[in-house]
Amino acid sequence: MDCIYEGDRKMYINPTECIDCGACESVCPVDAITADRRTPPERMEHLHDNRAFFETILPGRSVPIGNPGGAAVLGRVGVDTPLVSALEES
Ligand code: SF4
Repeated sequence: MDCIYEGDRKMYINPTECIDCGACESVCPVDAITADRRTPPERMEHLHDNRAFFETILPGRSVPIGNPGGAAVLGRVGVDTPLVSALEES
């Protein structure tokens, strides 16, 4: 599936388009991906923020991204959610 979208500093998985195959989880080099059902309580804020990337109106846009049918269709979004934008770069 082509359901991993590019923000600015972060990638976001479309929770509606994802078929939960787990392929990305096993190949992510920094173990940044966890299935929704196994997200620990202290990371739930980021689970909700990932969904917000698609369901809320991001800075500079007039409508939510929604479910475009593939990241390649939409291209680089180039903007993050307010939560991610406010994070310090490490
Ligand atoms: S689990 Fe990962 S690789 Fe599989 S469809 Fe969802 S985002 Fe894509």
